[in-house]
Amino acid sequence: MDRIMLLSLKVAGQLKEEYADGLVDKPWIGLLSIATFLEFNGYETMVRDIFPDKKTMDGLVRQISEKQPVIAGISVFTENADKALLVARIIKSQFPGIKIVLGGPHASLCPMECIKSDSVDFVVLKEGEATMLEIAEMVSSGGRSINPKDIPGIVYKEGDKIILNEHRGLIADLDLLPIVKRELTDISGWRGIVNVSSSRGCSGRCIYCAATALSGAVYRVRDISNFYMEVLMLRLMLGDKMEQLFITDDTFTGIPERVLKFIDLLKKHRLDIRWRCESRIDKMSRELIGKMAENGCIGIQYGIESGSQEVLDKIGKNIDIGKALEVIEYTHDAGIFICLSFMIGHYCDTRETMGETLGLIERLFRKYKKIQLVLSYNTPFPGTWQYTRMNRLGMRLAADKYEDLNLAAPVVETRNFTLEDQKDIYRKAYPYLWYLEKEAHAGAAAGLPQKE
Ligand code: SF4
Repeated sequence: MDRIMLLSLKVAGQLKEEYADGLVDKPWIGLLSIATFLEFNGYETMVRDIFPDKKTMDGLVRQISEKQPVIAGISVFTENADKALLVARIIKSQFPGIKIVLGGPHASLCPMECIKSDSVDFVVLKEGEATMLEIAEMVSSGGRSINPKDIPGIVYKEGDKIILNEHRGLIADLDLLPIVKRELTDISGWRGIVNVSSSRGCSGRCIYCAATALSGAVYRVRDISNFYMEVLMLRLMLGDKMEQLFITDDTFTGIPERVLKFIDLLKKHRLDIRWRCESRIDKMSRELIGKMAENGCIGIQYGIESGSQEVLDKIGKNIDIGKALEVIEYTHDAGIFICLSFMIGHYCDTRETMGETLGLIERLFRKYKKIQLVLSYNTPFPGTWQYTRMNRLGMRLAADKYEDLNLAAPVVETRNFTLEDQKDIYRKAYPYLWYLEKEAHAGAAAGLPQKE
């Protein structure tokens, strides 16, 4: 059976998050899911992390020579888009027979740009499981079993023409997907934090977020027993090497009853697991937080994004600062480590509203010990609501490379603030941000990855 190689391309920021435990392959969970689906359907699949440095690329070239995959799929995020195309070029130049497929958020949102590269044969839009399988069938059969024009959710070339097929619908029932098989990557060095996903998409409509563009603001969940089975399998497979579980869902508590059922299963089987998740302020209650804390939840991340209610209303965040403060307090009182993310440089920000964000960060820092405060710069990622309306919103993009769209440096100016204004606010917030020693110690106590 033909082999398929899937490459999880990492960028510097992700290294810190994911490699706190050392340099081991921990590919994107979405890529592992595609690999599992392909294997389930008879393809030999391997998944590995990749960094576009010489040493890694030399190793990759050796591995391709040895394994001879017929397809190399690369996941692409905006900040690594240029590097993904570089990796595609290197592979194609040495192995012209391999079909190169790009997928992932950036490829889904900027497919026409990705397909223009001579090294790229197909771009997969949005969810990749079924689409990659059909591409694999087409490549394996030399086009006899299925033709590209009959594969929804792809962009490809026909001579000089670029063809954009109709989109494939989102997978309605996530339980039809096989449970992700971690063994498709090298898990021998896995320890510490293990990622797992229980849902896809988010019903929110925050104007800066790609989730809406990718999932159409639809929140789809796995049956909680099916999800629990995966957690159980991870514990059996990794034992104590799995020190904690990170539930990667945009909003794990989107349906609170489901979280309560998960907790019931943990209790029923006395499964002692430390876990953390991301959630939304509007999906939390004191009761839920208390139950989560009693049953292994050690950390929750909330996106607060601004200290100005007016800004929050304008960016579609749909949260009330008063309620946010309440939820933060409940979470802290329950003993759960809180991670809060903020952004400055929203289109409707002014120096004053950014000052309100700074003020809120400072107040939270002074009030709570077990808290991690993260500040980044609003960044218009292609495909997001704000990106497609930048002119109307009065935003000027001051970046000419995708790798600059990485949240770590300001890239937007408006009539009301400059890049320097944002840097100034950031500098003032810096003493309160999460990588200070005090927070680092608190984070270490909660088992969270530490910034170097
Ligand atoms: S709540 Fe979070 S995941 Fe959902 S749209 Fe807003 S930023 Fe995106």
